[in-house]
Order: sequence, then structure tokens, then C-alpha cells
Amino acid sequence: MEKTPKNLLSERVNNLSESATIAMARKSRELKAQGIDVISLSLGEPDFNTPDFIKEAAKEGIDQNYSKYMAVNGYEDLRTAICDKFKRDNDVSYNVNQIVVSTGAKQSIANVALSLINPGDEVIIPAPYWVSYEEIFKMAGAVIVPIETTIENDFKITAEQLKNTINEKTKLMIYSSPCNPSGSVYSKEELRSLADVLVQYSSVVVVSDEIYEHINFTDSYFSMAAFDDMYQQVVTVNGVSKSFAMTGWRLGYIGAPEWIAKACTKIQGQFTSGASSISQRAALAAVSSSPNVILPMKEAFLERRNFMLKELRNIKGIKINEPKGAFYLFPDVSELFGQHFDEKTVNNADDLCLFLLEEAKVALVTGNAFGSPNCIRISYAASMEQLKEAVYRIKSAISQLN
Ligand code: PMP
Ligand code: GLU
Repeated sequence: MEKTPKNLLSERVNNLSESATIAMARKSRELKAQGIDVISLSLGEPDFNTPDFIKEAAKEGIDQNYSKYMAVNGYEDLRTAICDKFKRDNDVSYNVNQIVVSTGAKQSIANVALSLINPGDEVIIPAPYWVSYEEIFKMAGAVIVPIETTIENDFKITAEQLKNTINEKTKLMIYSSPCNPSGSVYSKEELRSLADVLVQYSSVVVVSDEIYEHINFTDSYFSMAAFDDMYQQVVTVNGVSKSFAMTGWRLGYIGAPEWIAKACTKIQGQFTSGASSISQRAALAAVSSSPNVILPMKEAFLERRNFMLKELRNIKGIKINEPKGAFYLFPDVSELFGQHFDEKTVNNADDLCLFLLEEAKVALVTGNAFGSPNCIRISYAASMEQLKEAVYRIKSAISQLN
């Protein structure tokens, strides 16, 4: 066989898709470097700086020589603070041996996938879902079983749908609430109805990704692990990237039954030896602080959401629900499919994103990457000024379609 790079690479990597969110962000950076004025609403990343008290904690960590290898699952004082956080915010009791600190929630999820999945195991993922769930679990050998939702039911699955999908081959289910990309938040009652199905399959592990927990515009939040009868089945994923504007610090964590936490630590011990010491010192300050410290960021996100909703609802062909959390809008744009611009036809969400990048110079992400081909994702984690300009450009580009 010819020795092309593709032939030399593993099937694992050849079968892996590049993260669509990261790919779009890269494309907009490249265009910007060429001097093209692109507004990137593609990446889910707070545009705020990390709060000063967290930066100070990191500086102290450097001065106090937190520079050696630590326990693979994280410093004990950080894991203690994470246990306190879970009790304070989520009414879930974990001990320090149930916590694993990792290099971002992304690695936390990869640890869980590699710890639990055997080739052929089925993993249920309500769609739309965050791009990386599918690829991480596929890489671990899982068969992905999506459950479709639509804008009409606020992109949330029902107990009935779950009952019709779950079976003896199901190993795991993963979802996020608030959801990336739909912004939907499951209420306690909705989670209870799903739990009633899940408890009947006690070997199925449920991964509850709560990374957008604090960017929640409803007045309540509920964690699946807080149901006593689900506690032994749930891995709770969280991290500091979104809530504390710390995406670059790469720090996430899980709370889990001890046997899963141990397995994740074993995997991590061979892959990374643990998260960066300085990021861990910073995270200790973040998770120990009152959630009120990030209220100004949350208020800014809410103002931007309301602005974007009002403006986008006026654009013909865009159907949009009211996201209750995170910082994304996920409009259904299928009414625009089949419309033309010059010689070109917008056949699907990929085409529409390309059209908006080329004609409006606004970078968004196709819903295809999130398992919902009728939609596109707009991140409103950008300044009001950028959002106003982006909306203006999107409106005028779409008005040229016919
Ligand atoms: N889960 C969801 C739903 C996300 O949107 C992200 C975004 N980065 C992550 C997990 C991973 O976060 P990080 O690795 O930055 O902690
Ligand atoms: N989670 C963010 C997003 O969905 C960051 C990029 C990524 O990690 O995929 O845009």
C-alpha cells in the first residue's frame, strides 16, 4: 500500500472529525489574519477576563511553589472545595475520593468514555448535543444512538422517547443542561420523569454535563445526582471554563461513584498525570467563591440574549426558541433551504453558514455538527457592539436570498 499520511495514520484518527466549533473559530482567525473583518460568533467562550481574585490565587500558587507533581486526581484541598461546592449548589454529597480534577471538562468526559465504553456499547445522546460528545464516545468504540428533538418541544427529550430507545445494550447516556447548543434547561420534574426510566436500567451510567450551571436564566437548577435513587448511576461533570471565564486555564472535574472516579484517575495517570498545578490553585479560589461573584457576567449574557432574540425573531425564515441558559441561540433555519443567491442555492445549514461567512462575514456553526441539521448555532458570548453589527449583517445577507 502507498505510504500516504492518510494510510499511515490510525483508523482512529482517520475516522475522527475535527471539532466543528474549533474549525470555524480557526477559519475566522485565518480570515482575520488576511485583513478580512469577520465577526466570530462560532466559539462558545466568554469574552470576559478571568476575575482578579482568581488570577491572584494563581500568582500566589506560583510564589508558593506549587510546581511539583500532585495526586493524579488533584490537590486534596481543591477536591474538598469541589465537594463543598457540590453540596452548596447542587445538594449532592461527594467525598474527596469521588472527585477527579482534569485538564478541562473535555478531558473529564474523555476519561469517563475510556473508563466505561467497550466497542459496540450503545451511548444515548439527546440531539442537539455538544459536538465533542459524539466524537469522544465514537473514539472509545461506542455506537451513538441519538434521540431527536425539535424546536417545538424546546429541544428536550421526553421520558417516552427515552423508554423507546434505552435497551439492554445501552451503556451510558450523556446530556448537558443548560444545553450546548440549544440553551434548554431541564427542570426538576423533567429530570424526574427521565430518572423514572433510568432507574429501571441500573447499569446505565448517566453523564450530566453541568458546565453551564451558573449561566442559567431560570430561577432554579437541579442536578440529576441529587435524586437519591440516581446517585449511584450519575457522573456529574463541571468545570471553571464557562462560569468563571477560564477557558484557557483548562480545568474541569467530575463527581462520581468511587469506582468510576478510580478508573478515570487510572486513565489520567497514564495520559496527563493530572491538571496543571497553577490552574488548580486558581480553580480552588473559583469554586470556593460565592456564585454571586459572576452575577455581572450572567446579567450581561441575559441582556445580549434578549437583544439577539428580539432582532433575530424579525428575520423571515428564522424560527427561534427562548434559550434559558448557556450563551447560544439555536434557530431552526430550514425555511431558508432551497433559496438562492446569485447562482448558488442554500440547500442546508452547512450552505447557510458558508453563505453567511462569505456574504455577511459572520462565522456561525452548522447544526449538523450538533446532530440537528435544520439549525445553526450562534454564540452570543461577544460584545454588544459586535452583536449589533453581526445582526445587521445577517439581516442584510438573508434579505438577498430568494
Ligand atoms: N461540555 C460542554 C457542553 C461544553 O460546551 C464544553 C465547552 N468547552 C465543554 C464541556 C468542555 O469544557 P472545557 O474542556 O473547556 O472545560
Ligand atoms: N464548548 C465550546 C463550544 O462549543 C468551545 C469549543 C469546544 O471546545 O468545542 O464552542
